[in-house]
Amino acid sequence: MLILEKSDVDKRLKLLRDELSQRPTSEELRGWNYDNPPVQPFSHSIKFGVGELAGRYCETLRDIYLKRILNIKPPPSLKMVRGIALHEIIKDVIFEVKKFIFNNPSSVGLDLLNELLLKGLELSNSAVNRAESSIGRLSKEEHETLVRECLGTYNFLLIQAAAKYDQTLSKYRYAEPDSIVNIAVPPVAERKVDGTFVGLSSELSVDIYTPYNAIVDIKTGEVRKFHSLTAAGYALAVECDENIPIDFGFILYLKFERKIPSFQIRYFVVGDELRREFLEIRDEALEIVESGRDPGMPSRCPEFCPYYTVCRK
Ligand code: SF4
Repeated sequence: MLILEKSDVDKRLKLLRDELSQRPTSEELRGWNYDNPPVQPFSHSIKFGVGELAGRYCETLRDIYLKRILNIKPPPSLKMVRGIALHEIIKDVIFEVKKFIFNNPSSVGLDLLNELLLKGLELSNSAVNRAESSIGRLSKEEHETLVRECLGTYNFLLIQAAAKYDQTLSKYRYAEPDSIVNIAVPPVAERKVDGTFVGLSSELSVDIYTPYNAIVDIKTGEVRKFHSLTAAGYALAVECDENIPIDFGFILYLKFERKIPSFQIRYFVVGDELRREFLEIRDEALEIVESGRDPGMPSRCPEFCPYYTVCRK
């Protein structure tokens, strides 16, 4: 699975399944209950992105008002460009590895490494350039640091993929490329999901879609308590779109203390409390946008809020 170690995930899942069996998720809070409250939105006039609702820097949801009613985008920042670039490079490396295995069915891990290591710098530059063109230009120094981080991430994941490729070939001597890819590499990166019926966008992107009944979300910034809400939003959308239960959330925090990334992982059950909290935020956001009401500012604004310089200047 490249980033997630199967034996670790299995151990964690055993504990999470115990937790889930003690407090099962209520049927009324599953995404397939999209035609009944509380999952059913009170209006279908507006669709939100999961990140838009789950990124709860602002207690009063003034960020929703600024974005949706006043059309003010958060000022561009290195953090935003970095997040997009690192997501892009992770998607790119997974795509390149799969393409290579399908195109070279008699290859081994070393062939994969030899061919794809050469593409790392070009793909890293491209990932940063794409992120800059959607958010804003970085200084030369910031650009170079981010390219290095993307390249470190690319090389790290590529080496993991080559090792997993060899292990899979060695274990399953008669497996076809399709099966090998499925075992060695995450099943789908940036999986599209239609969240329309639960009040979300029709083209949501789930970072990694796994066979574990879990949502995997990758974060590139600081650990925030509200990040688990992202998994609740995607769980509701996937349950509605695919009719399969999503019980667990894994948040992967990508950090750079060395030349290679390290991953800190939070595992949790996507239970009733989290689902209710997400749905309440969705309904409150809907009310703000439909009425055009400014919900006002909280008594304290965190300085890391993307709108800090807009509201508190
Ligand atoms: S700066 Fe304050 S009021 Fe504005 S969006 Fe952020 S938390 Fe809300």
